[in-house]
Amino acid sequence: MSNGTLAIDVDRIKKKYGAIEAVKLISLTVAPGEIVGLIGADGAGKTSTIKMICGLLAPDAGTIRVSGFDVRKSADEVKTRLGYMPQRFSLYSDLSVAENIRFFADLFKLTESQRAQRVARLYEFSKLGPFQKRRAGQLSGGMKQKLALCCNLIHEPEVMVLDEPTFGVDPVSRRELWDILGDLKKRGSGLLVSTAYMDEAELCDRVYLMHEGQFLCSGETKSLLANFEYQLLELFRDEIDFHVFEQLSSKIAQLTGVHSVNRFGDRLHVAFDRKMGSDRIVAEAEQFGFHSHPTHPVMEDVFVNRVQNNGN
Ligand code: ATP
Repeated sequence: MSNGTLAIDVDRIKKKYGAIEAVKLISLTVAPGEIVGLIGADGAGKTSTIKMICGLLAPDAGTIRVSGFDVRKSADEVKTRLGYMPQRFSLYSDLSVAENIRFFADLFKLTESQRAQRVARLYEFSKLGPFQKRRAGQLSGGMKQKLALCCNLIHEPEVMVLDEPTFGVDPVSRRELWDILGDLKKRGSGLLVSTAYMDEAELCDRVYLMHEGQFLCSGETKSLLANFEYQLLELFRDEIDFHVFEQLSSKIAQLTGVHSVNRFGDRLHVAFDRKMGSDRIVAEAEQFGFHSHPTHPVMEDVFVNRVQNNGN
């Protein structure tokens, strides 16, 4: 990639499937050495966006460049530079870990010396080395995802697009997969990662929050959190009773100045106007046996409040 060239440059694309507007005019960039998150719930339009970036789906309008090359007009140049890990990446379950990697090394026509060096590095950061002889079909879900990632990294793409790579993966493997992505970033690759897990947004340099085919907001993860516009109170109770959670939520939601009440596992997050003060919320919570304390926003707070603003 030459200096100043973006890893990914998406300019005003759209996609409809019949009457369904899956992607409604979005633009997005990824710089080299940057991890960018495409964050949204199922059906938000993430996969359609990613397929267009990888040249597998034609946009109805707009242009997409990968490492400076138009994905429609210069498909061959893009192919050698772009790695794509789809949501359901198919490994050969009867082949071993080593054989799967070899298959992809053959596909990308790697020389023997390139192969030896890269395979050693992939084993090192994926920790799959001790499992080289195990059949892919006999790996755990997390190991399968790591192997899929290794297969996609064997040609050392300068741009990598991953569609929900950690879906259904246990927390330890999720962390390991993110470590691998961090390693690629350090080596200068530009990465676009889609996920429905909001906590993963905080592992990205920048994010685009996607909802119903459009971006609700985008920016540096740190500044989206720092600029959260509401005050936030966390409510919790020693005994979990979902009926009481519901009752308290609807009571608090009716208070003037309360913007949203959301459940985060066994806790409630109340976002409210900074001018309002928390006394009325605390009093209401105490009536239902809840304790409370002020808390800092996480990305899910940013997301749910933006969705809420969008609906109003
Ligand atoms: P998921 O994680 O569930 O795949 P997503 O955020 O990736 O969700 P998309 O798969 O891009 O979202 O889907 C966006 C919208 O477009 C959804 O309403 C989906 O039902 C619709 N859609 C996707 N592919 C098609 C298709 N081939 N034909 C018709 N509608 C489609």
